[in-house]
Amino acid sequence: MTPITEQDGVWRLDGVDLHALADAVGTPTYVYSSATIRARIAELQQAVRGLDARICYAVKANPNLAVLALMAHAGLGADIVSGGELQRALRAGIPAQRIVFSGVGKTEAEIVAAVEAGIWRFNIESRDELHLLCRVSSRLGTLVNAALRLNPDVDARTHAKISTGRAQNKFGVDRDEAWRCFADAAECAYVRLDGLHMHIGSQIVELDPFREALGHVAGFRKELDAAGYPVRSIDVGGGLGVRYALHAPAPVPVQDYADAIRSAFADFDGTLVLEPGRWLVADAGILLTRVIRVKPGAERPFLILDAGMNDLLRPALYDAWHGIVPLHAREASTRRYDVVGPVCESSDTFAVDRDLPMCGAGDLVAILGAGAYGASMASTYNSRPLPAEVLVDAGCHAVVRERQTVEAMLAGEAARGPGIEPAP
Ligand SMILES: *Cc1c(COP(=O)(O)O)cnc(C)c1O
Repeated sequence: MTPITEQDGVWRLDGVDLHALADAVGTPTYVYSSATIRARIAELQQAVRGLDARICYAVKANPNLAVLALMAHAGLGADIVSGGELQRALRAGIPAQRIVFSGVGKTEAEIVAAVEAGIWRFNIESRDELHLLCRVSSRLGTLVNAALRLNPDVDARTHAKISTGRAQNKFGVDRDEAWRCFADAAECAYVRLDGLHMHIGSQIVELDPFREALGHVAGFRKELDAAGYPVRSIDVGGGLGVRYALHAPAPVPVQDYADAIRSAFADFDGTLVLEPGRWLVADAGILLTRVIRVKPGAERPFLILDAGMNDLLRPALYDAWHGIVPLHAREASTRRYDVVGPVCESSDTFAVDRDLPMCGAGDLVAILGAGAYGASMASTYNSRPLPAEVLVDAGCHAVVRERQTVEAMLAGEAARGPGIEPAP
């Protein structure tokens, strides 16, 4: 849960007064706590101590350059899924040699860019991609490292839309295809396929799905080894869940997760790779928003915020539950609300029938646990400019992404076309 605090009516995150911040920067604004991110990094590094393990932060969870710079300073690498994320990671100071590239739809241009940048390894998701990587690396005369993503057909018991390790999901390959890939790679002088990769889903709160998938990969590693395909790195993906709600089951403690990895690969002497995204940043962020108005409803009033599903998509997309805290000076009597945004969709709903302190127009509200898959999934739907992003640390704040202007949102468009006269 995001560590916002209240003292004498002043709400703060990392010592920064959130009312003053909202006055200065406006709303809606994402606010990230550096201290929380640093603490999470340290906790994970502590949990894997003694292992030959590299942590490659999954950029898509929160790709803000300042957040990536925090990761870079802590010595983390990056797990990227596009050419755009490659540029972000490099620009934030993450060395190419600490970057792994995942994803089922890498294009030739993206592969070329990553080979030329000299990334550490490609997480291959299909035989076709392997062949393309072979053609590109041979053409460029550059030896590349690769790992093969196995689809372990494990139910991560998370939301269907963030489950990635079932046979019917598009990710990874099954064992038969994996054997063919290793055989093909042996014929390619410029691809060193000596790793395995898995990632079974996101917001996983139980250990068993991880254990099952890790066991699957560990077993296959031994079979490969016996067949003369030595495996030097195993990437266990990400997926570790966080606690969005006190009423939700407690997620796997990070030490238990690390211990499961430790025991699954006790007899493996290569390098392990972890790709956490959400767990490092989700709790560190809030979405700061103001009440536009309260509207009576058939069942209960609507609390209409100036943040919408375009700013924070998770409730609409995944039925996600987020804590919602009105930042009132005093404890008010409570009321049940449907908390909604201004977007013209009924799915633009942050909470239904939520018991909250009474709110009125202009009140400031924090949506908690918004540090992961928040700003990164924001869009300009309804022509709403992208929100600002702020990093706070020990009482100081910095705007790390300016609020998008309408001018910037419209850049690249023009009111003309075939048969359309330019607008006056
Ligand atoms: C999204 C993703 C991650 C990170 O998942 P989290 O649930 O945010 O930890 C890691 N690896 C791959 C391949 C991913 O696609």
